[in-house]
Amino acid sequence: MNLIPILNTLSFLIVLVLLHDFILRRYYKETASYQVFSGVLFGLIAVLSMLNPIFETTIIFDGRSIVLFIGSYFGGFVAALIAGVMSITVSILLGGEGVTVGVLIITISIIIGLISRTLFFSEPETIRKRAKILASIIILHFCIILTLLLIPAGAKQEIGREISIPVLLIFPVITYFLYILIDQHQNQLRLRREYQRVQENFRQLAENNYNYLVRFDIEGDIIYQNQKFIDLCNLQSGRNRGKINEILFVGNSTINMDIVFSQINAKRRYLSDSEDIFVDKNNNPIYVIWSFEGVFNSNNRLEDVIASGIDVTERHRLQMALDNSESHLSSIFDLAADAILIGNPQGQIIRANQRAYELTGYKENELIGKSIGILFSKEELERVPFRYDLLNQGLVVRSERYLTRMDGSLTFIEMNTKRMPKGTYSAIIRDSSERKKYEDELRAGEERYRTLFESANDAILLLKDYKVLECNQKALELFEIGKEKLIGLSPWEFSPRQQKGRLYSNALAIKYIDIALNGDVPHFEWEHIASKDKIIYCEIKLNLVEIGQEKFVQAIIKDISEQKKNLLLIADKESMLIEKNKKLSEINNELKAAKIKAEESDKLKSAFLANMSHEIRTPLNGILGFCELLKGKELDNEKAQIFIHVIEKSSQQLLELINDIIDLSKIEAKQETLHQDIFRLDDLISDLYNLYFPSATNKNLKLTVTKEVPNSVTVMGDLLKMKQILGNIINNALKFTQNGSIEIIYRQHGEKFQFLVKDTGIGISEADISKIFERFRQIETELGKSSGGTGLGLAICKSLVELMGGNIKVQSEVGKGSVFIVEVPLIVEACEANNQKLVLEDPIIKTINLTGKKILIAEDEAVNMLLIKSILEECNATVFEAFNGLEVVDLVEKGLTIDLIIMDIKMPKLNGIEAAIKVFEMNANIPIIALTAYAMHQEIHAIRQAGIKDIVTKPIDTNDLFFVMNKYLG
Ligand code: ADP
Repeated sequence: MNLIPILNTLSFLIVLVLLHDFILRRYYKETASYQVFSGVLFGLIAVLSMLNPIFETTIIFDGRSIVLFIGSYFGGFVAALIAGVMSITVSILLGGEGVTVGVLIITISIIIGLISRTLFFSEPETIRKRAKILASIIILHFCIILTLLLIPAGAKQEIGREISIPVLLIFPVITYFLYILIDQHQNQLRLRREYQRVQENFRQLAENNYNYLVRFDIEGDIIYQNQKFIDLCNLQSGRNRGKINEILFVGNSTINMDIVFSQINAKRRYLSDSEDIFVDKNNNPIYVIWSFEGVFNSNNRLEDVIASGIDVTERHRLQMALDNSESHLSSIFDLAADAILIGNPQGQIIRANQRAYELTGYKENELIGKSIGILFSKEELERVPFRYDLLNQGLVVRSERYLTRMDGSLTFIEMNTKRMPKGTYSAIIRDSSERKKYEDELRAGEERYRTLFESANDAILLLKDYKVLECNQKALELFEIGKEKLIGLSPWEFSPRQQKGRLYSNALAIKYIDIALNGDVPHFEWEHIASKDKIIYCEIKLNLVEIGQEKFVQAIIKDISEQKKNLLLIADKESMLIEKNKKLSEINNELKAAKIKAEESDKLKSAFLANMSHEIRTPLNGILGFCELLKGKELDNEKAQIFIHVIEKSSQQLLELINDIIDLSKIEAKQETLHQDIFRLDDLISDLYNLYFPSATNKNLKLTVTKEVPNSVTVMGDLLKMKQILGNIINNALKFTQNGSIEIIYRQHGEKFQFLVKDTGIGISEADISKIFERFRQIETELGKSSGGTGLGLAICKSLVELMGGNIKVQSEVGKGSVFIVEVPLIVEACEANNQKLVLEDPIIKTINLTGKKILIAEDEAVNMLLIKSILEECNATVFEAFNGLEVVDLVEKGLTIDLIIMDIKMPKLNGIEAAIKVFEMNANIPIIALTAYAMHQEIHAIRQAGIKDIVTKPIDTNDLFFVMNKYLG
């Protein structure tokens, strides 16, 4: 056996180990680069060993199996493939008889190497694993021996002899040791790497640690310190490390490093309980708490100490703040207006504030340590139990209950309870007795209001923000709507779009509500809509309701639809009533007027009685006295004639007086009314002239008329009153004028007419002029005494003129004469241009020839009948008599031919007027002359209306009678 190839092979293997170590260091672990490089390496070494065969027999035999097995095992598939390809290529290139065996050996080595890797590589390094590897190696080489069987028969013997032993004994040993060498080397490398990584990790951990880290030995010399610690100590990085006892707990009286060491020796670790104080660059304190951990060797001797410091500056600051707030809270606790109790988990009171003592009435020693249950009666606790279940869920429990005070009195409270940290409970108790009282009152008030609200006869709505907030049952019935629908509606949403006055419901409703909100109480009519568009007429009153700060408007709604329907009926009735009322008030007025009249006439009657008694008695005394004289003695005719004359005069005076009194009474009783007659002024004056002409002639006075009215004027006015006034004045003129003349002048004066009566009589003094219009005033003159009179004439004239709207004046001079001026308004009816001459005839008719004339006299009084009959028979008339109206009618009915009827008006059975009407019905041509006691205007009109044209007044003036009869009988 040649030693050189063996040495070669060994040297190749050493190169292999060295290069593999190099690759391994560079490409740690199973990277692709490692596989490629180790493949190439193993391939090269295998090729080199093939080129240096150990046995140069027929078949070259070398160390390729060793190299390729190890290469496949450590390098894996890629390395095995590369090394295999390289070896096989070279083997084929070398050629020879043993090519096939050579390729086979390469293939077997690689396959078994890969199988071993797959099976054992990841197993931990144990004897067992190594045994398995050894077994694999032996199997490999056994297989190689078997391949030798494939060698040609000639060479077999030689090869078997030379190779078998070394292959089976030496090759496996070399392979195994090579494996051990590489494997150990690989493990070593891995461990070193692991260690480096751990160390790096630790370093990074220490450097980046938030805590201060420092390691020192038992001498106190610092071995390691992290950057944070260096910063803390203001040491510069890289400077000589100092002594630990010069850095930690400097100036601290309670702890030092000796204490720390002894504590660590005793307990292995130590945690400092007091803070170590450092100062930062800005001189602010840094508070640190240290923990120490001893590092002991295998003999349990302390070698080093690791100190770790935690910065507690922030915690320190918080603690300070907490302490501050704690004292703050404590004072709040005592000042709180509510009672505060703090109880422990067992329910005992551990703290109470001042208010709690006041509220409960207990003293501190009576409350602290006691169960909170002493504050509540058993019944109350059953009624409102403490809800520990809820409290333990962390909820705030709010309750209201009665608290029993120390003296046994009850106080209504509101209690808020909450579980606090560390299992304590805090209860805040508020005295709500006042509130409870108000609430109870409010509830009662509310109840009352609700009862009123619900039982009200009218619908009531409570409005808020123009919307219905609440309503009563009546409202729901009225609007035929459900409560849930009504609530939230605005009033105009259940009203027609427009109200009666054409105003829009919404605008109008808002206006009314605003008025109510301002405190007024609007009252108005409104139309609402109920279901099926039914219109409801309502009368609404709004008023403001203030509850707390809130303002509501309450609407009281009255359904007046029915009333509305009845309204027309009522209106009708009302107008009827008004009419009735009007009539009643008219009647009332009439009654009032009648009453006034009655009172006046009563007054008049009294005045009449008082004033008249004297005036009436005087002529009556004359009459009665002379009658007595005439009866009693034998008087000669001359004396008797004188007495009769006196009686006649007194009677005339009495008659005149009575007429005047009646006239005056009527005027004063305001019974005198004006009548509208249409007459010609000329006729009025000529009548007067004719009437007074005889008297003037008797006294040798000249009576003249001066007409100053240019035309013949027809006027409207009261003819009789005009005659009465002017007649009276003319009569006075005749009385108070002895000689000379009397002139009647009439003229128009503006709207009025003036009538002047001028006389040349005795005149009236200035002083007397104002008196002559007073009643019963007669001026004391000789003439006045002899001429009689009542003193009422001018008073009557004045009243009548004034009644007609005119006036009466007098101008007079004593001894020369007087002018009486009457001015009255008369309405001009017609004015004839041709000035008719005023015809003034001599009116005196001494007697009348009535021969052949048939005259019917109707008169119920026998004396009067006799007088008239005597007068007419003296004129040769044929006279028929009737004593009442019926008899007149009978006679005419019987066909009696009559030329004239003289008819008294006041008669029994049938009065003159009625009789005249009936007579005219039978024969309209029979002239009738009315005979009446005194001229009542009503009567005169009735007489005229009946168709009677002329009237003669009683007592009968024959002159008058003849004058009138002459008209009809010629
Ligand atoms: P009597 O009825 O007395 O005439 P009157 O009222 O008519 O009453 O007149 C009042 C008085 O006025 C008379 O009494 C008289 O003194 C005076 N009197 C009236 N008219 C005239 C007159 N024409 N001339 C003078 N005196 C007159």
